[in-house]
Amino acid sequence: MKEILDISLENEMDLVLAHRRSMQVGEQLGLTVATRTTFATAVSEISRTAIEYTDNGRLNILISGKYPRYSLYARVVFDSDQTFRATDEGFFYAKKLLPDFSFSSSGNAYVIEMGLGLPRSLKLDETKLSALKLFFENVIPLNAYEEIKQKNFQLHRLTGEQEEEIRMRRDLDEKKSEFISVASHELKTPITVVKAYTQMLKLLKDQYTDKVAGVIDKLDVQTTKLSLLAQQLMDVSKVENGSLLYDLVDVDLNEFVNETVTMLSNVHSSNQINISLGTPCRIMADPLRLEQVLTNLLGNAVKYSARNAAIDIETVLSETGDSVIIKVTDCGIGMSSAGIAKIFDKFYRMDDVTTSHPGLGMGLYISSKIISEHGGKIWVESTLNQGSTFFFTIPVQTV
Ligand code: ADP
Repeated sequence: MKEILDISLENEMDLVLAHRRSMQVGEQLGLTVATRTTFATAVSEISRTAIEYTDNGRLNILISGKYPRYSLYARVVFDSDQTFRATDEGFFYAKKLLPDFSFSSSGNAYVIEMGLGLPRSLKLDETKLSALKLFFENVIPLNAYEEIKQKNFQLHRLTGEQEEEIRMRRDLDEKKSEFISVASHELKTPITVVKAYTQMLKLLKDQYTDKVAGVIDKLDVQTTKLSLLAQQLMDVSKVENGSLLYDLVDVDLNEFVNETVTMLSNVHSSNQINISLGTPCRIMADPLRLEQVLTNLLGNAVKYSARNAAIDIETVLSETGDSVIIKVTDCGIGMSSAGIAKIFDKFYRMDDVTTSHPGLGMGLYISSKIISEHGGKIWVESTLNQGSTFFFTIPVQTV
């Protein structure tokens, strides 16, 4: 069946449309005036009943069959609490006009189909029928009412397509999250075992040659990186399903920053890391999660700067005194303003770093979630080729 027209039957204006469009289909097919009038009258009879008792009817005009025998059909469907019979007046007349008539109902849903065989003399084929369909797809509205109706329909279709697109994206995102969750858990176990064995080997360092000890050290560094990546993957999936939990305790901010940065300075020993601490304050925070944020920001500052470049860490109370601002400044590669808008998105990486610097674009996403869960904000100011300053705030405890 090829659908040529689809008209909703809601009010009297639609009855006019149903009639005129049915006539027009007949005209386009090349039917005689008498035949198209018969067809359009039968369609109008049924459409009138649908419109009289409901506002949910639909009229479809279809071509069935295959080359060289085709039939022209009209199908009217509607729902109604009212009981109808094939012998009711409107149906009765329509049936008289078009003997190829069927009436069926299921519960309060009614389907009426009526049609006529199309003479071979019309010389129809699939190409002509496709052209007919196209004609009605692009047909000029008969009046202002139909124009509004067409626009409404297009809007409806667009909304439907957009909803479908959103649903598909959500499904895909859920599948991706599920995969990340399973993959990170599966990775974590063997990595933990390898890490434990590497630590054991490190303890027995004296028993190996310097070369073997060197290999073990490299193994240890790489396993730590791998373990960090698996941990980040796990955190991403925890953020997604809301299971990233926080153990909040009272923290002396300056003391915490000082200790964390001193510990990180040992990891990044080739960089000069300067700390400038402002007015002391206390915050409620999960120290492990906050350490994760500082590790990420400092790690990035090192990664995206020249070797041995200086990094500045600063703490300062906000002007209003209700939060503390922590700044991490580097004079590295910086970022374009287009990229800045996206760097806190999941898996986002700037184009210019994808091949030059290792990473998966998870650190800032996780950090931004951790900071917002602490009631703070995170942002960046950056100039391409000059450097970046990452800022984050945490509310301070008032005594
Ligand atoms: P990763 O570093 O693993 O790619 P992040 O989420 O930590 O993931 O960072 C996201 C992106 O933000 C990076 O890929 C990089 O393009 C950019 N970026 C982050 N920190 C800096 C920085 N200090 N300097 C320049 N670009 C940065």
